[in-house]
Amino acid sequence: MTEAIPVHFFARQPAADELIDRFGRKLTYLRISVTDRCNMRCDYCRPAPDAYKAEPHTQILRYEEIERIVRVAAGLGVTKLRLTGGEPLVRRDFPLLVEKLANIPGIIDLSMTTNATLLGKYAHDLALAGLGRINISIDSLNSLRFRKLTGGELAPVLAGIEAAKAAGLLPIKLNTVLMRGINAGDEHSEVAELIDFAAANHATIRFIELMPMKQGMDWEQHYISIDEVLQRDDVRARVDVDASLETGNTAARYLPLKNGSGEVGFIMPMSERFCEGCNRLRLTSDGGLRSCLPADHQLNLRDLIRSGGSDEDISAVFLRSAMIKPEIGLYDFDAGSQKRSMIHIGG
Ligand code: SAM
Repeated sequence: MTEAIPVHFFARQPAADELIDRFGRKLTYLRISVTDRCNMRCDYCRPAPDAYKAEPHTQILRYEEIERIVRVAAGLGVTKLRLTGGEPLVRRDFPLLVEKLANIPGIIDLSMTTNATLLGKYAHDLALAGLGRINISIDSLNSLRFRKLTGGELAPVLAGIEAAKAAGLLPIKLNTVLMRGINAGDEHSEVAELIDFAAANHATIRFIELMPMKQGMDWEQHYISIDEVLQRDDVRARVDVDASLETGNTAARYLPLKNGSGEVGFIMPMSERFCEGCNRLRLTSDGGLRSCLPADHQLNLRDLIRSGGSDEDISAVFLRSAMIKPEIGLYDFDAGSQKRSMIHIGG
């Protein structure tokens, strides 16, 4: 649901220069989906073709609009940005956006999440434009399996990882969504292999529990908990599962590798909510401001801006979004309940 913003709302907002929600969480991290288009079609992310229609270009925020929103957000204490999608690199002139955002005072951490297929072409430009770090999604090292799951090819992803290393976009983080029967569970598990692959590439890998974004794949059939993955002998041979999980203000918990070569991250949105330390807001590709991933509620910044809204008005919407951020993000398991998929919201 996108909420239209009543005119009288703006007059009632208290002056404030930072975003603190009703539970005392300081919101300093904005994740921005720059497009709902993608050159892959991962089962767990993209809705079925008949349920998915890309937004017309006119409905997507222009770069100047994103830049303006980020300037206002930075004035409210946002320091960290992650650009995502859809696939950010399919948007034309994406490094130009990176350059604009990297130069905004107050933004000290600018990163992106990508499937890496186009990094061979853009990694160098992105580093020059001021991108700090990169997260790369890779769910399988088996090219047939990779193609079946994503509709794309593994080889350009591997080339993209090399290009990111060569461009100095470090430290690289790899993200793997765990799916029973595909890359996890019994004979399908690629967890150990992916850990070794990450170590060989001096990257940190994070395994993510599958979330029920409804238009995607059958969640119940494919969900596997991190706890179950950590019971595997080939995982325990590599990961010090007895070390205490490092906690902090991030979604991931980290365990050390036994050979001392680094650590492995685990993101457990389903089995262990990390809402308590959540410092995030999200801007959708069509200008919706969301304060919680699973809560299907957003405020419409695009229409506000296009109808002449001032920076103070934008600021007030950020404050309102912080105020309505739920204490805990709850996933709705009823079929059809999740109206927007990851491709719209930005993962
Ligand atoms: N196209 C880019 C990519 O592939 O990384 C950025 C967008 S993608 C939506 C961002 C992240 O969301 C990816 O790491 C993806 O694995 C994760 N993601 C998408 N749907 C998910 C789901 N249902 N459960 C868990 N993670 C999901």
